[in-house]
Amino acid sequence: MLQNSFINFCVLFTFAILTYVPFQNKLNIFTLHPRFNPFIIGGVSGVTGCILIMQTIIISNNTVVDGRLAVIVFSGILGGPIAPILSSIIIGVFRIFAFDVSQFSIIAGMNTVVIGFVIGFLTIKNQMTFRNSAFYFTYAILQTTFVIGYLNNWTLLALNQIILFLIFSALSFSILYFILNQLSNLFTQIKQIEEMSRTDYLTGLYNNRKFQEHAQKLIDESPCFSLILLDVDHFKRVNDQYGHPIGDEVLKELSLRMKESAKAFNGIVSRNGGEEFSVLISNVSEKDSTNVADIIRKDVEKKEFLVSTGELLKITISCGISTFPDNGLVIHDLYKLADKALYHAKESGRNQVFHINKT
Ligand code: GH3
Ligand code: MG
Ligand code: MG
Repeated sequence: MLQNSFINFCVLFTFAILTYVPFQNKLNIFTLHPRFNPFIIGGVSGVTGCILIMQTIIISNNTVVDGRLAVIVFSGILGGPIAPILSSIIIGVFRIFAFDVSQFSIIAGMNTVVIGFVIGFLTIKNQMTFRNSAFYFTYAILQTTFVIGYLNNWTLLALNQIILFLIFSALSFSILYFILNQLSNLFTQIKQIEEMSRTDYLTGLYNNRKFQEHAQKLIDESPCFSLILLDVDHFKRVNDQYGHPIGDEVLKELSLRMKESAKAFNGIVSRNGGEEFSVLISNVSEKDSTNVADIIRKDVEKKEFLVSTGELLKITISCGISTFPDNGLVIHDLYKLADKALYHAKESGRNQVFHINKT
């Protein structure tokens, strides 16, 4: 009995790892389309349940205990409503035929199938999560307790078996819950760190690294796109006059405004460093990209920036633009030319937009 319990727990552990890591896909490890996941998780859970039944803990002629209920319930968290239905059918049918087919095995098998269907249908409306999984597991345990009691004619022996069943079920549920919850937290943290490595800490815009990725993707996939470089005019004065923290506030507000203005053109806004930003816009001509940059420039100019001291600051930006493929075929060249156009805008008095073709 101890050996089988140990094997059951080992199988549960393997199940947790095998189903969680690839299918939760928080790290994009698995590439199969997500719509297949409920069926794969249901199938894997079903097979796991069958393995658990083969290592089942026999506690009387007609009662066996294993971790199958925990597997069915957790398949609902990982795979949605279809998974518990599918896994319970596989496990239920296996339970009926695994040992001698009898009235007991049929009732036990049917009990498993009913649990899977009830959980499946209940979770169509009320999606299963780690938080509410205990509710579904409690239902599964209560129904099975009733079946064990019924099969054993509610004798003292039945009570004995029910206690063993409850202890084992609680343990198997807790182990799976613990492992899956830990994995979920761990992967969420990794995802957050990954996100942070691509995001500018101050403004939440893409950082230079992510900008490079986006630009390369556009070079590879887009027939044409424009790179707008934007630089705040005389920003040093803002810092000198109001202090660095107020300068930071301005940069944050400026980022929000640029993002809002660029949204209509599906512009990808990044902070490339200091008070220099960029917007990538695909499928636009030289003229259109100049218009877009001018819209962003005007949005910055026309509304003053309210800072935490209550003061209103007037900010302007200058923009330089280059267009792929006419002005360059690699990021480095496009950036250099947009920067040259930006320099031209600064030299021409600031608060202006220049395309490299017009300099
Ligand atoms: P120009 O019109 O020629 O661009 O003038 P400018 O003063 O904006 O130009 P410059 O590039 O010489 O100065 C940029 C300033 O931006 C210098 C630096 O202190 C400030 N700066 C860069 N990054 C940050 C930041 O994260 N926060 C704040 N508050 N200031 C920053
Ligand atoms: Mg500047
Ligand atoms: Mg600058």
